[in-house]
Amino acid sequence: MQKRHLAILGSTGSIGTQTLEVVEANPDIFEVEVLTAQNNADLLIEQAAKFRPNVVVISNEDLYDKVFAALDPLDIKVYTGEKSLVSVVEMESVNMVLTALVGYAGLIPTVSAIKAGKHIALANKETLVVAGELVTELAQKNKVDILPVDSEHSAIFQCLVGEFHNPIEKIILTASGGPFRGKDRDFLKTVTKAQALKHPNWSMGAKITIDSASLMNKGLEVIEAKWLFGLTPDQIEVVVHPQSIIHSMVQFEDGSMKAQMGLPDMRVPIQFAIGYPNRLKSNFPRMDFAQFPSLTFEKPDYETFRNLGFAFEALEVGGNMACIINAANEIAVAAFLRDEIGFLEMSDLIENCMKKVNFVHTPTLEDYIETDKETRRLALEFV
Ligand code: NAD
Ligand code: MG
Repeated sequence: MQKRHLAILGSTGSIGTQTLEVVEANPDIFEVEVLTAQNNADLLIEQAAKFRPNVVVISNEDLYDKVFAALDPLDIKVYTGEKSLVSVVEMESVNMVLTALVGYAGLIPTVSAIKAGKHIALANKETLVVAGELVTELAQKNKVDILPVDSEHSAIFQCLVGEFHNPIEKIILTASGGPFRGKDRDFLKTVTKAQALKHPNWSMGAKITIDSASLMNKGLEVIEAKWLFGLTPDQIEVVVHPQSIIHSMVQFEDGSMKAQMGLPDMRVPIQFAIGYPNRLKSNFPRMDFAQFPSLTFEKPDYETFRNLGFAFEALEVGGNMACIINAANEIAVAAFLRDEIGFLEMSDLIENCMKKVNFVHTPTLEDYIETDKETRRLALEFV
């Protein structure tokens, strides 16, 4: 297997740190070339001292001096500033970029990596939500693989290995339902961020945890799946599966269904993405069926969790609508985490932006950048 020389964008986060666990366990296969973080300088320094990348990026410019002082003696280059993420992914020594930063910030570095011919292990689903058509076309043109890290999309991808010539009838994305499964709007009116941050099955960064509680995460994943697997909206179904053991399913044209399952452990899909097409040995905990005597499934509650419906609406409408939803959601989640708006108001804010922001039918990259800006401006007014 050809050695993977990785740039890990967002190495200090939930996905980033778990990626480094996989790397550490497989030193013959993975080499770290680039590590990047926004604010957590201490962890970035610690990671760099251990994995000895060529370059690190600390996006918060105020922390540059601190990181430079620690890593310059180790002969590790330190960059900061807006353009640095874009240029480090182009480095000759890098052959795969794992995108584990949060939100819209992933788009421009990912586009730059694809243009430079680097394979993408994609955790940053927002990139495909914002500009799925443009990004997937660019990847095809540059003969670059986009390998999904998101557990549901990894599950679908794993079901498709050996089946790429067989058309998909539909996919079934599983959703845990999050901490508020079964609750009604009355209950949700007054929930706090502490309640929303308690995910039953997964430990993740704050933004995706709130997205999971509001089902926005599943909405973003519906859009992500459309672009990754070339599907129409009616080929995508969401089913709530509270145990998070089946990570998603594919139904083929003969009616047969394949599912991928296992304990909820992000290291499995991370390792599958960066090790593809090989399955590397691991010592992650194995599933014991005796612990899961019943796997259950239910319909999502589209009335209480309106965000999921917004995502399907965006697929029908196309253009820059998903970009609008993403930007509005980023502002909504940040405001909710600052206790400035309530849980249900996040959906109101998104709906408002969907109605008011300029619709563009066939957006260019510049249009997406403008849409993101315009939506954030409007959403902040609403807050
Ligand atoms: P996190 O908040 O734990 O970590 C984010 C990382 O990105 C940190 O290293 C942070 O420093 C960096 N970062 C954040 N904003 C940045 C910015 N504006 N510019 C530069 N760097 C920035 O997040 P996470 O839970 O690891 O999620 C990362 C991505 O992976 C998200 O897109 C999320 O939707 C996706 N994802 C996460 C999980 C999970 O289990 N955590 C599962 C599936 C998909
Ligand atoms: Mg997921």
